[in-house]
Formats: sequence, C-alpha cells, structure tokens
Amino acid sequence: MNKTDYPSVLLIYTGGTIGMIENPETGALEAFNFDQLQENVPELKRFNYQILSYQFTPPIDSSDMEPDLWKKLVQIIQYNYDNFDGFVILHGTDTMAYTASALSFMLENLSKPVILTGSQLPIGVLRTDGKENLITAIELAAAKNNKGEAVVPEVCIFFENKLLRGNRTSKTNAEEFSAFHSYNYPSLATSGIHIHYDISKIKPMPENKQLKPHYALDPNISVLNIYPGIQEKTVRAVLETPDLRAVVMRTYGSGNAPQKPWLIRLLKEATEKGIVIVNLSQCHTGIVEMHRYEAGLHLLEAGVISGYDATLETVLTKLMFLLGHGLSSEEVKRMMVTNIVGEITIEE
Ligand code: ASP
Repeated sequence: MNKTDYPSVLLIYTGGTIGMIENPETGALEAFNFDQLQENVPELKRFNYQILSYQFTPPIDSSDMEPDLWKKLVQIIQYNYDNFDGFVILHGTDTMAYTASALSFMLENLSKPVILTGSQLPIGVLRTDGKENLITAIELAAAKNNKGEAVVPEVCIFFENKLLRGNRTSKTNAEEFSAFHSYNYPSLATSGIHIHYDISKIKPMPENKQLKPHYALDPNISVLNIYPGIQEKTVRAVLETPDLRAVVMRTYGSGNAPQKPWLIRLLKEATEKGIVIVNLSQCHTGIVEMHRYEAGLHLLEAGVISGYDATLETVLTKLMFLLGHGLSSEEVKRMMVTNIVGEITIEE
C-alpha cells in the first residue's frame, strides 16, 4: 500500500484497560494482541486508512509507566515519523496525563498528531467506551486541512467526546466515562455527529517541521504538599532528599502557605543551594499569584517561583525535561516561567 494513497496511522499499544479482553473460558481480563483488537473492533476495517500497530511486550498497567518508557515512545515515533500521518497511543488512564505532558516537551517541532486514548471499560466488554475513543482518535490522528497539513499538530488526549491539549489535562474521574479534564485551557475539539475543531485554540504548525526528539530526563524531583499542621521535620526530609534538584510545592488558593519562620528558612536555604522550588496551587482552576497575599509574598522572597496555571503532571515532566538537559538552576527557573508548548498561560 502506498502511503500517499491512504491516510496512515500508527497505533501504539502500551497497555491499560482498553486493551483487555475477557477470556471466554476463565472470565479473567487479559491483554490483547493487535489481531484480537481487529476482531473486537471490526469497524477498523471500514476505515479507508492504512493502520499499522506497535505493541509493548508485555503491555503494562500505566501505573508502571516511567521515564524510560517515554523515551521508548519517542523512539518509536521518531523511527516511524515519515511513514505515518499521525500516531494513536493506547494507554492506561491512570498516568496518561503524565505521558502526554512528557511527550509534548520531548517531541519538539511536532507537525503530526499524537493522540493518546484509552478507556474505562475493556474493549471486549459490551458497554465499552473504548471503541468510540479508539475510532475517533484514529480519525483525529489522520485529519488534514485543505493545505494537506495535520489539523492537530500536537500531543493530545481524546476521551469520551473531547480532544484536550495533553499537557493541560488531568485524570479527574475513576468512575465515569468522562475521565479527563482540562481546567485552564479549552477543548481543542468536540465530537458529536461531527467533529468540531476550535482552530484558534490548536497549536499552529511549527515553522521548522523537522522533528527534534529529546531523550534526556532527570527525575530527581519531589512533591511537597502543604497542609495545616505540617511539621518542620517533614519539610526538612523532603528538602534534604539526596540529589534533589527541584520541588513542586502544592500550596493553597492563589499560592499561599503558612507564614512560619522555619518554613521560610528551609525554603530559602534550599533555593540558595540551587534547588528549584515551583509553587503550584492545590486548586485546579486559576493561577498562582504570590504577590496577592502576605502568605504568598514571603514565598517569593524565599526564591520560590510560580507554576502559573499548569497541571502537576506538566510541572513535573517539564522539570525532568529541563533538568535532564543540564540547564543551571537559573536557566531552569527562567524556562519554567516561559511557555514552551502551550502548557502555561503567561500574559505577555
Ligand atoms: N490501571 C489502568 C491503567 O492505567 C486503568 C485504566 O487503564 O483505565 O493502566
């Protein structure tokens, strides 16, 4: 089959609920292979597309996802980049937002769609949400505009009926089919009878269309959740973690934390040692503004930087990406408050 005759999509199956099929004999849920997928989703044959697949062996529960597997995904995409119009990654829902965020930084100059999807019910179950998610994700991955370019040249999550920017998305529901939400950025498309794209919200095609894959990630980071009653020894244990390079501090409201002198002292000592501390609110909607209250101002004075309206998944993977590239603390801080791939809202 000649690539120019048909839209072509590479389906990368990593694992997760979507790929489970009930064994008719034992009743247990087992991971499928691509042939079984085609048997369970005969609709795939009705696409006039070339759909090929790559499968993780063994498929994983996405709780086992890790930076080395993100590098493997980047490698698969790099290797197959010129031969496909788009990529669909079938992924467990639990860490899908982390993978989507990481890939958005690792695939620089992306000019083709990379759509992650999965499901809440296995594809072999009668009421599955997996079929619709998979079929629409394939359509989105192959969609072109009248210039022959990809409509959505970015890393996205498609779930239920919404196409969301991957690095703006979090898993928010473990029960309903609508499992993901993007609090601080609108949907890129919605699917009903038709797929409606909001072109003004989609990342424009990069000027340089030469994919620049990145593989360096440094996971020496930690998360510090602030709560009433937090103890000095708890904060100290986090900030004195060996080899620590950065901390995401989850604060209250618009970025506020207790005004205890020991807390400010520990944070200041850490930032002076070159540890990057990013202030991210425990509220999902809204933006960190440390200058708004006294309880935020002292964090600014301790050298803490703002995570703006980013998701936790994005701040963690962006830090891994920047630190992995050997940047100094000052450079990391500067890039953390710079919008790289649509992950934060910065008023210019
Ligand atoms: N634990 C599964 C996973 O993330 C859940 C799912 O796929 O929805 O792999």
